[in-house]
Amino acid sequence: MLCPLCHTPNRDNAKFCKGCGRVLVTESAADYDSAPIPASSAPVEVQSVADVQRVVHEEFTRWFGSESVGPQEKYSEIAEEIWQLWQKSKLT
Ligand SMILES: [Zn+2]
Repeated sequence: MLCPLCHTPNRDNAKFCKGCGRVLVTESAADYDSAPIPASSAPVEVQSVADVQRVVHEEFTRWFGSESVGPQEKYSEIAEEIWQLWQKSKLT
């Protein structure tokens, strides 16, 4: 298909234009498996290590997909570290 923007010929199933990088929306885009990202810009209430762990896990899942991220329990140590750093930064 031709890119509607720069008219570069692309593969019919291409998701992005190789010329300008524009997203190519095709009629057969029904199997487009992009999970809807919640567009919440509200500040997250983080009040405990458990909250940090949950947020870290959610963010990682968004970036890498749930299969490579694994269970939330794996992130207890990193959550603890972030929490300590955060508490320290609030004191200064
Ligand atoms: Zn293009």
